[in-house]
Amino acid sequence: MEASVCPIDAQFSGQISTLLSPPPLPQVQEYFEALVTERQCHLKVKTDGKHGKGVYSEVDFQGDDLVLRDQMLVGAQHSSNKIDCLVCSFCFQFIGSIELQIGRKLYLEELGVSAIDECGSSDDMGCSSSSEKTCIPQDSIQSLMNGSLQLPYSENFPLPSVVPCPGGCKEAYYCSKSCAEADWDSFHSLLCIGHGSSSPNTEALSKFIKHANETNDIFILAAKVISFTILRYRKLKAAHVEQEGKHDTSNACDSCIFPLLLEAWKPVSMGFKRRWWECIALPEDVDSCEEAEFRMQIKNLAFESLQLLKEAIYDRECAPLFSLDIYGHIIGMFELNNLDLVVASPVEDYFLYIDDLPVSQKKKAEKITKIFLDALGEDYSISCQGTAFFPLQSCMNHSCIPNAKAFKREEDRDGGATIVALQSIAKGEEITISYIDEDLPYEERQKLLADYGFICRCPKCVDEAS
Ligand SMILES: [Zn+2]
Ligand SMILES: [Zn+2]
Ligand SMILES: [Zn+2]
Repeated sequence: MEASVCPIDAQFSGQISTLLSPPPLPQVQEYFEALVTERQCHLKVKTDGKHGKGVYSEVDFQGDDLVLRDQMLVGAQHSSNKIDCLVCSFCFQFIGSIELQIGRKLYLEELGVSAIDECGSSDDMGCSSSSEKTCIPQDSIQSLMNGSLQLPYSENFPLPSVVPCPGGCKEAYYCSKSCAEADWDSFHSLLCIGHGSSSPNTEALSKFIKHANETNDIFILAAKVISFTILRYRKLKAAHVEQEGKHDTSNACDSCIFPLLLEAWKPVSMGFKRRWWECIALPEDVDSCEEAEFRMQIKNLAFESLQLLKEAIYDRECAPLFSLDIYGHIIGMFELNNLDLVVASPVEDYFLYIDDLPVSQKKKAEKITKIFLDALGEDYSISCQGTAFFPLQSCMNHSCIPNAKAFKREEDRDGGATIVALQSIAKGEEITISYIDEDLPYEERQKLLADYGFICRCPKCVDEAS
C-alpha cells in the first residue's frame, strides 16, 4: 500500500513542528492556574522535565471527597449510541422527556435506521430484526414521541426541553439556548450540515461524517478540534484587526496570521500527543509481522478522512491544521488521554422507580409501562456513551494503586468528569488515577500501559517486579 502524501505537510513543516512542540513552561503554568481557578478545585498542575505533567493536591482530602469536576475541552457521543439516547450535543445531559427517549428509540429501531447509515433502507419496517422483543403498534410509539401519551410518574423525572440546532441541521439538539449558542460558537457552526452552516461545502461535510461513521468516529472528534481552533483563530483575528484600527476586517497582516493561529491552538497544545498510527495498540488479531502494514493502513485511513474534511472546511490562513501530521497528533491525543464519556440514563431510573412502587401502585402503573419495557428489552438502560478530552483530568498520572478515580455520582447528569478520592490524600501529594484495570496481573498491566508509552514504576509494580 502506498504511503499517503499530504502536500500541506511539506509546505508548512516549520509551522507544524512549532504547533506540535510543547509550549514553554511559564505558559503551561499560567494556563493550568487559570483552569484550576475556573474549576474552583484545590489542585496544582506541576511540570517537570522527566515525567511531564502531574496533578497535586493543595489541601487534605478524605476518602470519597470530590477532588475535581472537570469540563471537557471537546467531546462527542458515539455515532452508534445516538439511536439509544437523545442528549444535548454540548453538555450531554438527556433531553426531552422519558416518553420521548423511549418513543424515539423504539421508533428508530423499528425503522431499522442505524446511526452508521442514517439513510439506510426503511423498507425493513416491523420487528423482524429484533425477534426476541415485543412489538408495539406504531401509534403508541407516535403518541409517546408527540407527548399525547404520558407515562405514570414520569413527572418525577423531568428533562429539559429540546432546543434544535440554530443552523437547522436536525442532527444536533440541545438542553438550552445557552448550550446551543456555546456549541455553535465553539465547534458546530463549521461542522453543521444545515442551511445556516458556515461550512463552504456542506455536501463534502456530509461525506466526511459518513466516512467517520463507517470507519472510526474519532475523526468527528478530531474535526471538532480543528473547527474549535479555526473559530478561535477567527475571533482572535477580528479582535486583533479591530485593535489595529483597520477598517477592512477581512485582512490581518501576513506576519500576524501564524502567531494568532498558535494562540488559538493553545488549549490543544497543552494535551500530550503522539501520532495516532504510531501509538495505537496493535489489535489482538493482527500478527506482529504485519504491524508495519497495519500502521500504514491506519495512516491512510486518517489521510482519507482528512481530505474529506479539508474539502468541507478548509481555511487558507489555518492551512497547517489540515496537515496529516497535525491530524494524526490530534487523534493520538485522544487515544492517550481520553476518558470515556458516560451519562447514566434517566429511563433506567424511571423503570427502577416503577419497580420499587408499593404493589398496588406498581400493578396499576405496569399496565401501561410493561409493554414499553418489554419492547425495549435488555437495552432499556443504555447510557449515553462517547469520548471526551478533559484538560485537567488528562494531566493526572497513572498508578496501579491510585488514590482517586473517575466516578459519576447521582447528581452528575452531564458529560463532565468527576474525580473522587479513594482514600485520604495529604496536601502536596500527587493525585493518581488508574488508566487500566489495576486488578490485572503485573504482565498484563505493563502490556496495556505500554500503549500509553510508559513502563509503570508505581509501588505495586516495583513490588511485583522484584
Ligand atoms: Zn446542554
Ligand atoms: Zn447543526
Ligand atoms: Zn503500576
